[in-house]
Amino acid sequence: FYYGTVRRAERKLVELAATDPLTGLSNRRNLRVLTEQVLAQARRAGPPTALVIVDIDNFKHTNEQHGHEVGDTVLVAIAQVLGGCARVIDIVARVGGEEFAVILPNTDTEGALEVAERMRTAVGQASWLAQRATISIGVATLQPAEDAGGFYSRADAALYAAKAAGRNRVELAPAGGSA
Ligand code: GH3
Ligand code: MG
Ligand code: MG
Repeated sequence: FYYGTVRRAERKLVELAATDPLTGLSNRRNLRVLTEQVLAQARRAGPPTALVIVDIDNFKHTNEQHGHEVGDTVLVAIAQVLGGCARVIDIVARVGGEEFAVILPNTDTEGALEVAERMRTAVGQASWLAQRATISIGVATLQPAEDAGGFYSRADAALYAAKAAGRNRVELAPAGGSA
């Protein structure tokens, strides 16, 4: 009985340490661990791997206009949309205040762009959410010999390009160098 209780408590602690409390998604630290696992697998077996970074547009303004509590509810609703667009094997994480990252194992560029566009569209179709938020998305697919840092930087540069191009859109990172 005693050991069972300790083991359950341990599991609970491990889970809490990996989870963002507001949205229930993986946190940045857990994403890093899981990303390394996916990349190790991708290098061994060679399946395509995609990374999607999602940032809420003008979220500062959303908070100012509707209040911080509504802002928090928007974050939870976006997390649900992203989770709803993801498969069981995908890893959805909240990596910053209003920024999310999704790792898509076994997914090529075409598939990743499709998922990203579905996410963006789903936000626009949820009426409560659509009145309060849009999202911009950067997409990258893992290049040969690329490390997690380079992979993330390219997706982030694509996100930056989506913001610069007017927001509420999806941009794909070029394969070589940084976007
Ligand atoms: P952009 O379209 O360029 O991304 O503009 P932005 O306003 O979304 O970006 P900026 O980085 O200027 O502002 C992010 C805002 O997100 C500011 C901060 O108050 C808000 N934010 C971060 N974390 C939370 C949170 O947990 N809850 C709420 N309600 N707001 C948050
Ligand atoms: Mg933002
Ligand atoms: Mg941001």
